[in-house]
Amino acid sequence: MTSRKIALVTGASRGLGRNAALRLAGRGHDLIATYRQGATDARTLVQEAQALGARAVALPLDLGDSAGFAGFADAVRAALRDHWQRDTFDALLNNAGSGSYATFATTTEAQFDEMLRIHLKGPFFLTQALLPLIADGGRVVNVSSGLTRFSLPGYAAYAAMKGGVEVLTRYLALELGARRIAVNTVAPGAIATDFGGGAVRDNPQLNGLIASQTALGRVGAPDDIGPVMAALLSDDLGWVNGQRVEVSGGIHL
Ligand code: NAP
Repeated sequence: MTSRKIALVTGASRGLGRNAALRLAGRGHDLIATYRQGATDARTLVQEAQALGARAVALPLDLGDSAGFAGFADAVRAALRDHWQRDTFDALLNNAGSGSYATFATTTEAQFDEMLRIHLKGPFFLTQALLPLIADGGRVVNVSSGLTRFSLPGYAAYAAMKGGVEVLTRYLALELGARRIAVNTVAPGAIATDFGGGAVRDNPQLNGLIASQTALGRVGAPDDIGPVMAALLSDDLGWVNGQRVEVSGGIHL
């Protein structure tokens, strides 16, 4: 039996989820880390978290397939029993996701449905499926985007779903308050990860443009975001609830 809290992080194999998972491990959380294609990356993450003193397991999850969520919840239940002798975990980070770039005029129904499944239906029904496994007094962080506050051509479908996530956060905060579960949104600005084909990181023109529009003068890095996600999942920020926290270095102020 461990006294460390347990966090479940979706999309922990790369990018922001990976950074947040390691920050959580460093702050004293054990981990259930999900991956979709990156089984090897997830194994490496588990080893790095273990080196920080955390107990950690990796489980596969396809956020675009809500039919699999009941089975995923069963796998989480089994992992909690086998590795922690517990039937609940303490913190959920709904982070996983991929981008889709198309102007409004050219967005196909298939692209729209993919964004809907991954970014809105996924967090909605995954959280619902995991609800019996989240401890009373636990914490949830959903991940949105700066693109809900300002608009850039090409992100209508993606940003519309992220806007939905922010509304969902407030409803969850309201309805789960009876169980003392706090729910917040982290909205990253443009961050140099693999997201969107790695364009923010690898396209010098785009990188420079974003830096010039950001008060702190550069694009974001995973190290700018993971600590905020981890902090919002900790008791230190326990009275923050139902909020959208933008973490962008001050873009388009
Ligand atoms: P990333 O580096 O591309 O990593 C994406 C992660 O999500 C990976 O672990 C990937 O798993 C997982 N994933 C992708 N699609 C999935 C699916 N259908 N089901 C389950 N897992 C899936 O992206 P990131 O930059 O870390 O983005 C993380 C979150 O931040 C996303 O919600 C994104 O919308 C949001 N965000 C990113 C930025 C940015 O500029 N980077 C800005 C604002 C918001 P595998 O590798 O194992 O397949």
